[in-house]
Amino acid sequence: MPHTPSSVPEFTKWPSFPFEGDIRVKPIDDPVEVEPSRKGEGSADCVACAAPDEAYIWVSDRWRVRAMDQPSGLPMVLILESRSHLDLGDLPNLLAAELGVMTVRLERAIRSLDGVARVHVNRWGDGSAHLHMWFLARPYGRLQLRGTFLSLWDAILPPIPEMQWRENLALVAAWLAEFGGRPLAEPPHIQWQAPSSFAATGNTPADDDPGTLTGSVTGTATGTANGGATPTEPTISSVAALEEPDDEAAATEPTDPTPTQA
Ligand SMILES: [Zn+2]
Repeated sequence: MPHTPSSVPEFTKWPSFPFEGDIRVKPIDDPVEVEPSRKGEGSADCVACAAPDEAYIWVSDRWRVRAMDQPSGLPMVLILESRSHLDLGDLPNLLAAELGVMTVRLERAIRSLDGVARVHVNRWGDGSAHLHMWFLARPYGRLQLRGTFLSLWDAILPPIPEMQWRENLALVAAWLAEFGGRPLAEPPHIQWQAPSSFAATGNTPADDDPGTLTGSVTGTATGTANGGATPTEPTISSVAALEEPDDEAAATEPTDPTPTQA
């Protein structure tokens, strides 16, 4: 007989809690005897190992950084992966030490972007076995987004303009490349078309960069950096999509098999 808590916890009253109205707690499942294997467990069918460097925004001999396949609600969401098929607790000392350096470096790079107040660093690892650390940028001034619900807000807020997203990806990749490795994210390609296309896309170009010819670009940048993505590569659209175990994610898996990389 599943146990159902009678009252909702205090955090549902926090300003950062994204939902309102009548909320019930789900019945709590009994624990399973043996957990199902995660994606890529034992390096079999590991998406990260199979992904080409071109699917990433920056790569080095031992680390790779990738973005979502499209802009989401937060100014920046990135994943840091080891190149080797290892989980956090398996890292040898060299990689463990480098993980600290890479974490700080990537946090600084993302925090240097315009409009970013804080960078949340998370490692869940319940969905995929290959080590992947999440970096989620909280927009400046958005106090409601502070704290542990940030990954939920990422899927709730409207996506940021694609041009701004691609510019940010290129800035982070260039920042990381200052210390080595190879940047793969390029700034958005400018398309010389009528400004009327702004209305069609609903995107607002950044207005604080005098060096960007925002008056004549379209809101949609072309993603041509991705030469190596294969049709078998699943899309990565959000924290939830990647961290959900297979049995939970199956119902909501995106159907478009062709990701658009930065
Ligand atoms: Zn792997």
